[in-house]
Amino acid sequence: MAEKVKTVRGFRDLIGEEARKYRYVVDTARDILERNNFEEIILPTVEYTKLFARSIGEATDIVEKEMFTFQDKGGRDIALRPEGTAGVARAYIENKLYADGTYKKLYYEGSMFRHERPQKGRYREFHQIGAEVLGTSNPLADAEIIKIADDILKALKVDATIEINSLGCKKCRPKYREALLQYLKEHKEELCEDCQRRLERNPLRILDCKVEGCQLIAKNAPKITDYLCEECKTHHQKVKEYLKALGVEFVENPYLVRGLDYYSKTVFECVSEELGKTVIAGGRYDYLVEELGGPPTPALGFAAGVERLMLLVKELPKRPPLVLVIPFGGDREREEALKLAHRLREEGIRTELSYREGKIRKQFEFANKIGADYTIVVGENELKQGLFPLKNLHTREEIKLPFEEIVKVLKTQSG
Ligand code: ATP
Ligand code: MG
Repeated sequence: MAEKVKTVRGFRDLIGEEARKYRYVVDTARDILERNNFEEIILPTVEYTKLFARSIGEATDIVEKEMFTFQDKGGRDIALRPEGTAGVARAYIENKLYADGTYKKLYYEGSMFRHERPQKGRYREFHQIGAEVLGTSNPLADAEIIKIADDILKALKVDATIEINSLGCKKCRPKYREALLQYLKEHKEELCEDCQRRLERNPLRILDCKVEGCQLIAKNAPKITDYLCEECKTHHQKVKEYLKALGVEFVENPYLVRGLDYYSKTVFECVSEELGKTVIAGGRYDYLVEELGGPPTPALGFAAGVERLMLLVKELPKRPPLVLVIPFGGDREREEALKLAHRLREEGIRTELSYREGKIRKQFEFANKIGADYTIVVGENELKQGLFPLKNLHTREEIKLPFEEIVKVLKTQSG
């Protein structure tokens, strides 16, 4: 036998129920976003590497070690996108979406790529559905973004705790950074190698380190919320008030920093205890658009990890009942069955036409194998009489009816 080719490490097939779960998660989120009047933006899968280096940050895990980068045939440095926000910001600037002077609400969905160690809920190709609001500093937007994340979790019946924090702004964050640096320097020896390196370049990132020793040190670090300027404090306060008004439950985590550099003010994560991982995460990035060459544009958003949500979805909505139309006889019966099967589909009934040949017993075996709920046999007698046996494979009941009557019965079943 020839050698079999496998999927690339960290990449996966989603087949059958998995694929349906994927669609269910994405469609549920999409419905909620559409209801909130977000517009879809379909982005390219690759961007120039420098877009991510400049937005996500040079000293982040994503840019330092997780990106799939390559040179195209023209020698350009290109990366498979590791996330969606940078692309949205690039598109916003490139297409002058700010031109009409209003804010924009956009959502995207698709594959992201990160060269991480594959494990449950962590893959090298994964999917996100994300939302971004560009062009407003109103804390109403922060509250609504978090509310949407909460709505998605509730709609999917996924249990997760919403943690929120504020990372301050250009005015107050440097003071906090200084205090944090001071504290961390005293514990330098206890930090992991990565964090010792991060110390001068990006001390905030240390609070996000997953190494236990670093997490212990982070626990007693100074809190950013003690360093916020008046504006950031008020903003944070408002966001929390609005969330309470909406009845969104959340906890404050003063050490929540997120793994990307572009955040300011509000950050949040929806953490699943069951998975031990974050399923939805986001926040404000008031400087990103300007740093990428656009006009000053306060903005915010979130990204939901589709695979992680899939791991937590317990129940999929049932598919509508399946009808198997079985031709029995010769060419004429096959042709009639073909037409009748399409007649059912026209009415929105999930229908399979049997391509199997042979004994009727084999046909019923096939019906069971494919999980059919009903069968209709189309044979010579049936065509002559204009009456067809509709069999319910669960109750084994059979009724003979004119075809249009069968359509009516099945339509009520298909809901
Ligand atoms: P983590 O801390 O778990 O590495 P992150 O902070 O890198 O997550 P974000 O960049 O905020 O993740 O991405 C938003 C969401 O995308 C995450 O909350 C998660 O649900 C999902 N996600 C991120 N990386 C992966 C991955 N490698 N595989 C599957 N889902 C992922
Ligand atoms: Mg990560």
